[in-house]
Amino acid sequence: MTYQGSCHCGRIAYEVEGEPAQVVECNCSHCSRKGYLLWFLPRAGLKLSTPEAHMSTYLFNRHVIEHKFCPQCGSAPFGFGKDPSGRETVAINVRCLEGIDLAGLQRVPYDGRAS
Ligand SMILES: [Zn+2]
Repeated sequence: MTYQGSCHCGRIAYEVEGEPAQVVECNCSHCSRKGYLLWFLPRAGLKLSTPEAHMSTYLFNRHVIEHKFCPQCGSAPFGFGKDPSGRETVAINVRCLEGIDLAGLQRVPYDGRAS
């Protein structure tokens, strides 16, 4: 399945290939404020159709994840990082994907607040 995703204003648009079996709902100070529901997959699963320069990057804590967001509308559609074995990973905020059944996804709580 290919999902179309975008920020609210459309400056950031992309496709994601795959099917989210489950999404991570983290309770840390950052994820809870943004309302992230995150689907982790290899970086190659994301195909940007707008220039990288349209995105701004938010870094915090240990600066290991690049949280991308739109400087115009404020949407935060995904972030780039690495998995424990060092592979390039993208965490897609499934709330920014079109046609996805949010209520049908299995939500996996992650206690990021405590870690
Ligand atoms: Zn935007």
